[in-house]
Amino acid sequence: MAKILIVEDESKIARFVELELKYEGYEVEIAVDGRTGLDKALHDNVDLVLLDIMLPGLSGIEVCRRIRMESLVPIIMLTAKDDVTDKVAGLDMGADDYMTKPFAIEELLARIRVALNRQTKMVQSKVDVLQIGDLKLNITSHSAHYGEDELVLTKKEYELLEYLIRNKNIALTRDQLLNKVWDYEYLGDTNVVDVYIRYLRQKIDDKYGIHLISTVRGVGYIIKDEV
Ligand code: CA
Repeated sequence: MAKILIVEDESKIARFVELELKYEGYEVEIAVDGRTGLDKALHDNVDLVLLDIMLPGLSGIEVCRRIRMESLVPIIMLTAKDDVTDKVAGLDMGADDYMTKPFAIEELLARIRVALNRQTKMVQSKVDVLQIGDLKLNITSHSAHYGEDELVLTKKEYELLEYLIRNKNIALTRDQLLNKVWDYEYLGDTNVVDVYIRYLRQKIDDKYGIHLISTVRGVGYIIKDEV
């Protein structure tokens, strides 16, 4: 479950929100001043920050600005009054959303869900594509492109290529490749790996004149970062 950091110096509000969030199943941390909040936001692996603007030490606006220099963690600002200047400043500093106190807890919970979902989608879309030089794999659609060209790969060719790229810069033995890509023990017949490596080289290395897949003598194969 997501971990939520509440940065709020008013202990009554912090406590109330904490109880509601825990009831919903979230993990909760509390910081009562700006500096502690900044430190926890950056180092405690939190998934979302509820950030009050009027804080002792660093203001919420400043905390928000400093978090954004290092992290994309979702931030929902809590403003004490309906102060448009504060809201605008918070959003300018990269906050995702804001709530005006006093707020209805149901609305806060809804906004937290929205912010967390958006973040999950962003993270997923980030790891959607694996890239080495001009070669791109879309791991959702299982398609591969070299520059603008779509590569026509069989299922096993694609899986072998994806496994090599996911483990780039590591020399992989034929046995490892067999076990990971073919899912079962081939009883020592690793020729099949060599055959599929040859197919991939024909379709990529030979076709585009690059050196993508290297043979590591006595070990197996490797794809390095620099092609
Ligand atoms: Ca406050």
